Amino acid sequence: MARIFSGIQPSGELHIGNYLGAVKNWTHLQETHPGAIYCVVDYHAITGAYDPAVLRARRWGMAKSLLAAGIDPAKASLFMQSDVPEHTELSWIFTTITPLGDLERQTQFKDKSSKMESIPAGLLMYPVLQSADILLYRADSVPVGEDQVQHLELARDTSRKFNAKFGVEYFPEPKPLLTPTRRIMGLDGNAKMSKSLGNTVGLLESDEEIWQKLRPAMTDPQRVRKSDPGRPEVCNIFQLHKAFSAEPTVEHVRQQCETAGWGCMDCKKVLHEGMVQELTPIRRRAEALDAEPQRVLDALASGAATARGLAQETMRQVREIVGLDGLSLPA
Ligand code: ADP
Repeated sequence: MARIFSGIQPSGELHIGNYLGAVKNWTHLQETHPGAIYCVVDYHAITGAYDPAVLRARRWGMAKSLLAAGIDPAKASLFMQSDVPEHTELSWIFTTITPLGDLERQTQFKDKSSKMESIPAGLLMYPVLQSADILLYRADSVPVGEDQVQHLELARDTSRKFNAKFGVEYFPEPKPLLTPTRRIMGLDGNAKMSKSLGNTVGLLESDEEIWQKLRPAMTDPQRVRKSDPGRPEVCNIFQLHKAFSAEPTVEHVRQQCETAGWGCMDCKKVLHEGMVQELTPIRRRAEALDAEPQRVLDALASGAATARGLAQETMRQVREIVGLDGLSLPA
C-alpha cells in the first residue's frame, strides 16, 4: 500500500489555503492509509529571519491546529521534524548528489531570493531537505498543494540519482496527491494565499473576523455594478464556494452570478455561512485542546517515537549502501 507523507511549515497560522490544498486531504488519507506520516517541518521555517520565541509559539500552534483540523494520532503519526534528527542526516547525503543548477531553477527559490540582499544557503537547499523528509520514510504519495509539484519533481530526481549511483532500487519516486482545490488565492485575488504574504484566512479565526476579510475581498473585476452579470469561473469567491458550499448551493450561486440576480455581497454572505459550518467544529476542537494542552504533547511524542523508529531503520540501510556503516576489523 502507498506510504503517505506530508509536511507543513510552522511559519504562521494554518490557513484555509493549506487546509483545502493539503490538510483536509491528510484527514481523508489517514482513514484509507493507516500509518500516514504528517510532519511540522520546523527546520524549514528557519531559513529566513525569525524570532525563536515566536517560532516556539507557532510550532505549538501548528501542532494544535492540525489536530483540531482532524489529524488523529491514533491513525496517523504527527510530529516535529526537529525531533527526528535523521531528516538532516539524509539531507546532507542528498546534497552530495543534487546538481546546484537544479536548485537554482526552483521557482520558489527564485521568487524568494530575488527580494533578498544576502541569500541564506538554507533557502537554496530547502528542496533537498524536503526530499529527505519524504524519502526518509520511503514515501511514494505526498498530499500537497500545487506549489509543491516542482519540489516533488526534484525529490523524484534525487531518488533516481541515488538509486542509479549506488546501483540499488532503494528509494521510491514520490508523487504529489493534488486536490480539486490545489491552489487557493489570497482574498486580494492577486497571489496564492500564503503565510509569508500575509493574505490568509486563518482556520481558527472567528466568524466575525472571517466576515471582515470576506467583505472587501476581490470578485470578478469586470462586475462593476450589481446589474452587471458576473463570471463565476474567474471569481475567487466562487472558487471558495466550490470548497465550502454544498453542490446545489454552488450551482445556485453560479446562476445568480451569471444572471446578476445576486450582488457580490449576497454571494459572500452565503459563502460565509458555508465557512462557518465547516470551520466551527475545528475551532471547537482547538478550544478543547487549549483546555487540555497535554494532549498536544502526547500526540507529538507518540508520533515522534514512530517516526524515529522508521527513520533510524532507513538511515541504517542508507549508511550501509553509501559505505558509512560501522567499520569492522579488516579480514
Ligand atoms: P505556506 O505557503 O502558507 O507557507 P506551506 O509552504 O507550509 O504553506 O505549505 C503547506 C501545504 O499547504 C503544502 O502542501 C502546500 O502546497 C499547501 N498550500 C499552501 N498554500 C496553498 C494555497 N494557497 N492553495 C493550496 N494549497 C496550498
